[in-house]
Amino acid sequence: MPKKAASPWVPRAAGGLLALALVFTIAVTTPWHLIDLPKPDAALDFTAAEIARQNAFRHEILRWSTASWIISIVVPVVIGFSPLGRRLYDGLRIRWWFLAVPVTVAGIALITNLLTVPTDVLAQRVSLKYGLAVENWRLWVWDRGVNWAITSLGVGVLAVVLIGFAKRWKGWWLPGAIASALLVLGASFAYPVLIEPRFNNFTSMPAGALRNDFLRLAADDGVPVKDVLVADASKRTTALNAYVSGFGSTRRLVVYDTLLKDTPPAQVRLVVAHELGHAAEDDVLHGTLIGVLGTAFGITLLYLLLGARIADPRRAAVLVAMIVAGTTLASPIQNLVSRKIEARADYHSLRLTNDPRNFVAMQHDLAVRNISGLDPSAWRYWMFASHPTAPERIAMGRAWAAENGGTVPPLVRR
Ligand SMILES: [Zn+2]
Repeated sequence: MPKKAASPWVPRAAGGLLALALVFTIAVTTPWHLIDLPKPDAALDFTAAEIARQNAFRHEILRWSTASWIISIVVPVVIGFSPLGRRLYDGLRIRWWFLAVPVTVAGIALITNLLTVPTDVLAQRVSLKYGLAVENWRLWVWDRGVNWAITSLGVGVLAVVLIGFAKRWKGWWLPGAIASALLVLGASFAYPVLIEPRFNNFTSMPAGALRNDFLRLAADDGVPVKDVLVADASKRTTALNAYVSGFGSTRRLVVYDTLLKDTPPAQVRLVVAHELGHAAEDDVLHGTLIGVLGTAFGITLLYLLLGARIADPRRAAVLVAMIVAGTTLASPIQNLVSRKIEARADYHSLRLTNDPRNFVAMQHDLAVRNISGLDPSAWRYWMFASHPTAPERIAMGRAWAAENGGTVPPLVRR
C-alpha cells in the first residue's frame, strides 16, 4: 500500500496562525509612539572634535567588523547549500548520527570562527588603539572559544532534536516547534546563571549611599530589587553599560564596574532608572515570548520548506544554514522592536528621575566614552542598532523636558 503523504494543510494553517500571532503581538505590545521627537541633531551636543573622533573610529573599525559579519553568514550558508556540508558529515566517519550531527555543527562553527579570526583581530586592534577595548589577547581567544562552545552546543542540541523528531514523525513540525520554543524559553531564563558567569564575575554592589539610593529608587518605582550586581567588565573594555537579564527568579540588575568608577552619581542613577524601566515593563520576558513565537513560526516554516528531508542527518549543514539565514533575516524586525522598547525605558527613566539635564549629559558622555555611531547609515541602523542613537535619545530627553515645562540647552556652546 502506498504511504499516504502527511496532509500539508495543517502545518500551513499553523504557520499562518503563528505568523499572525507574531505580527499581532508585535503590533500591539510594541510602544510605537511615546512622545513627538524633534529632529535629532548631533551638532547640538557633540563638539566637532567628538564627532570627528567617532567618525574616524567607525571608519577604521567598520570595514573589519562588517567583513567578519559577512563571512559569518556566507560561510555556513555556502557550506549548507552546497555539497560541502554533506562531504563534511561523511568525512567525519562517525557511526551514530546523533553524535555526527553535533560534531558537524561544531565543525561548521569552528570553520566560520577560524575564517573570521583575521578580520576580528584587525577590528580588535582598532578597538585597542582607541582605548575602548583593554582585554589581553589571551582573554580574547578564551572568549572566542567559550562563544564557539556555547553556540555549537545550542545549535547542536536543536539539530539533534529536530532530526530525531523528523526520523520518528512525519508531522515533526508540531513537536519540533514546541521543543524549540521551550529551548528558547529555558535558554533566556537560565542565561544569567548559566551563560553570563562564563564571561564575567558578578559581585553584590557594596553597601553604601549609592547602593541604598538605587534600592530606594527601585522601591519608589514599584520594582523591588533584592540586589544590584556589579560585573567585572573592566577586564575587557572601558565602555559603560548596565542591563537587566533573566526573568522570574533569575531576574537581575547588573551594572558594569566601569560605570561605578568615574561616572557622576546623578548619571549612574539615570542608567539604573533606565534598567528599572526594563524591569517594570518585564521587557526580558516580553522579548522572550516574542522569541518563542518567532521560533515556533520559524520551525513550522522550516517544515514547509524541507519537510521529511530533515530526517536525513547528512543534511545537518542545511539546517545550520537555514538557522543562520533565518536569524539574519529576522534581525531588522528584532532591532526595530528593541529600539522602541529601549526608548520606553529611557522615557521611564525621565519620569522616574525628573532629571532631563543629567539625562542628556549622560547620553552624551556614554556615547563619547563608548565611541557609538551618532548617525549610522540606514542599512546599519536596521541591521545592527538595538538602541536609538545618542542624538535620538537626547532628542527624547529634550522633548520630555519641553513637555514638562523645562528646557535642556545644547551642550555645545555656539
Ligand atoms: Zn535598555
